[in-house]
Amino acid sequence: MSIAIKGAQILSMDPENRAKPFTADILIEDDRIAAIGPDLDLSGAQTVIDGTDKLVMPGLVNSHMHSNEALYKGRYDNMPLEVWMLYAYPILGAPVLSPRLVYLRTALCAMESLKSGTTCVTDDVYESPYQTPEQLDALFQAYDDVGLRATISGHVVNRPFLDTIPFSRDFVPAEVQAQADAGTPMAAEDWLAICKDALTRLHGKSGRLNFMLAPSAPQRCTVELMQAAMEMAEAHDVPFHTHILETKVQAVTGHEFYGETLIAYMHRHGLLKKRTTIAHSIWVTDADIELMGDAGCSLAHNVISNQKLGAGVAPVRRLLEAGVNVGLGSDGISTSDTTRMFPVMHAAGLIHNVQTPDTDYWLSAEDVIRAGTLGGAGTACLGDQTGSIEVGKKADMLVLDMTTLPFTPLNDIANHVVYCEDGRSITHAIVNGEIMAQDGRCLRVNEAELLAELREEMPAFLAAHEETEAMNRAFEAAFWQVHRKANGRDVGVHRMGQEPAWT
Ligand SMILES: [Zn+2]
Repeated sequence: MSIAIKGAQILSMDPENRAKPFTADILIEDDRIAAIGPDLDLSGAQTVIDGTDKLVMPGLVNSHMHSNEALYKGRYDNMPLEVWMLYAYPILGAPVLSPRLVYLRTALCAMESLKSGTTCVTDDVYESPYQTPEQLDALFQAYDDVGLRATISGHVVNRPFLDTIPFSRDFVPAEVQAQADAGTPMAAEDWLAICKDALTRLHGKSGRLNFMLAPSAPQRCTVELMQAAMEMAEAHDVPFHTHILETKVQAVTGHEFYGETLIAYMHRHGLLKKRTTIAHSIWVTDADIELMGDAGCSLAHNVISNQKLGAGVAPVRRLLEAGVNVGLGSDGISTSDTTRMFPVMHAAGLIHNVQTPDTDYWLSAEDVIRAGTLGGAGTACLGDQTGSIEVGKKADMLVLDMTTLPFTPLNDIANHVVYCEDGRSITHAIVNGEIMAQDGRCLRVNEAELLAELREEMPAFLAAHEETEAMNRAFEAAFWQVHRKANGRDVGVHRMGQEPAWT
């Protein structure tokens, strides 16, 4: 199988050209980029794409997504994380989903991702009360069928829920606490056995699908589980993916539970490494930033989700300067309501400008595109495989039509990509050397049939979910109190991430 793109503008993100476009041909053979250059011999290519007025750029990488939230798309608004979680990650009575519904839910996210320019995604999947091997198989199958590159987890929490949030036992009524404590969290050995099985059976499937170790967070998992997960991630060279310091409540959590910041806790237990990817890291101290930089770990910057939950804004420039690799994520499909990554890039390009008047801390279009491509690949331990257009790398790329509204009139291409484009200009999405979407259509699956089947499943699902919501409403008043109490504390973090040193 070979594909040629003739005479396109290429925004390669390679070390030499970065976000400076140049005109050339591209030859793709099997799953890889075989050649890039002017006037290549393309006569042997089976498919030739005319590059006139076309931009070719690396496929976008979504560094942090939870497809399990997709059935709640557009359902919730104006709740902070700790309150919203009661409904999207219920403590009590969540219905166990059939593998088929998991498949449809995942296909929904994969199709929207692909059509809007994402070629590689990290999907950190939590199922209630825990993920079965059949559900995990369904996830892999959906990504395989739609044609994305994906790194998939079974997200785990193994501490009793009320012990993962400070002050919760001060506010939750005793009889409601008893109900929450009645469910037993998953045993570490059971989860590790499922991960080992997934690494043997599913990891590497179709040359596009990988498994990763994703303990939820240092306050939600025991340190023994996290250390065993890190050991397994190292043995199989896969990412160790977790959540740290998304909200002010979590900044207070470190001090309340461990007498130190959650980043310091990770460092002390040997969990801060290059393969560690941290979702959020908004409420980091100066010392935390230094520890993260020294480890060379990664950040998944979820700039839209963080706004929806009012979580805050990560100090991205400071983390980059410290040596942290930065990728962009949509986060879950309930806190972002979409998988689309062009809006995430747009938001990332804007939000740091209101953190501080010091323009040294703002991100450029090139910074944003790098985070949305190559930086993202690094968060999935795939930096040498994808994220840029370079000979020898996997052929994961987008072709965009530059005669569309977002690119007309054409000025600076990198600025158009970040500030004007919304995904509508994509003509081809190529993953692993195969055209997976073209002219707004996924080529390997029947989107209309899958969506119709999902719509049919929804009334029964929502009826069950409404009962679950009613049960979990018993915690809501207490969690608002937790939110207010924690937000009243001073945790020694600059709210804006950086105060200018001007006098
Ligand atoms: Zn997350």
